[in-house]
Amino acid sequence: MTSLSDLPIRDDLRGLTPYGAPQAHVRVELNVNENTHPVPQQVIAEIMSRIAQALTTINRYPDREFTELRASLAQYLGHGLEIENIWAANGSNEVIQHVLQAFGGPGRSVLAFPPTYSMHPIIAAATGTQWLTAERDEGFYISPETAVAAIRAHTPDVTFFCAPNNPTGTPVSLETITAAYDATKGIVFVDEAYVEFAPTSHGTALSLLQGRPRLIVSRTMSKAFAFAGARVGYLAADPAVVDALRLVRLPYHLSALTQAAAIGALAHTPAMLAMVDDIKTQRDRLVHELAVLGFTPYESSANFVLFGNVADPHAVFEKLLSQGIIIRDIWMPHHLRVTAGTQAETTEFLTAIAALDAAQR
Ligand SMILES: *Cc1c(COP(=O)(O)O)cnc(C)c1O
Repeated sequence: MTSLSDLPIRDDLRGLTPYGAPQAHVRVELNVNENTHPVPQQVIAEIMSRIAQALTTINRYPDREFTELRASLAQYLGHGLEIENIWAANGSNEVIQHVLQAFGGPGRSVLAFPPTYSMHPIIAAATGTQWLTAERDEGFYISPETAVAAIRAHTPDVTFFCAPNNPTGTPVSLETITAAYDATKGIVFVDEAYVEFAPTSHGTALSLLQGRPRLIVSRTMSKAFAFAGARVGYLAADPAVVDALRLVRLPYHLSALTQAAAIGALAHTPAMLAMVDDIKTQRDRLVHELAVLGFTPYESSANFVLFGNVADPHAVFEKLLSQGIIIRDIWMPHHLRVTAGTQAETTEFLTAIAALDAAQR
């Protein structure tokens, strides 16, 4: 049998492991922070008709500039953003890849603050960008002073923030982002995949874009929009940043079907986001109930909760899985992460974990 090490693969890819969150299809799936509510039927009907229309010209390449989609995204984001400020790709993972292809790469570095999104180091590795890390403060926060000290110590080409942070749910203050921006000559990239679940009082880094051409704010339709399967992520930045990304993307990277589906979904933004409040209620319920059970949940601004004081996380994960409930073992000692699902799913999870022997949990 041929193995990877027999192949003339890039030396820097030897020994790496691919992204591998288990894709078990079970009754209650609370492991990858999807929106577990399906897309409303009337939105599906509109998306179907737009896809049918797109199919009539599918023999032609799609709009390489996805102008109509960018207009819809600019309108959704507000903050005075225009088509020229917007970029999109097949999931924000591809958006991040474009950013590192343009601003990272061999001989360059990206600084991050673990524990953070597991795909960030994987995309750094795939683009040959050196992955540098710095410590967070107590409670997983990053103060402006902590961010600035890390940037001074490492002088990275790109600095990543994840706000709110996955897997901890911790917000990142706008003061931290502006301090980081002022301390670096490089790119500051803020991954706001979960921002729709955060209190509006936390603000968004979109409000900082004006006059900061090295700041990039990314979003996704995978979480709040319940659109993970469609693969649509996007960013807002200075038009010059968008020009840089055009140099590295493959032409026609967003299919005509993807563009049609996303435009259809964005035309029904209120219906698509209708379940966000319900999910926030379930998230807060998880924080409350897990504490009552003796775990140590962290306050979360996202659609998931990280909780500690788990005696044996692998055993708890397996026990729940055997009952048709999958959550996330993030391989952090004594911690597990669970996505806020529907009320019924959240109840199932809480009932099952409460029923485990005290010794097991
Ligand atoms: C889920 C997630 C994303 C979304 O990735 P897509 O490729 O858009 O599905 C991006 N960033 C973070 C931090 C996430 O947790």
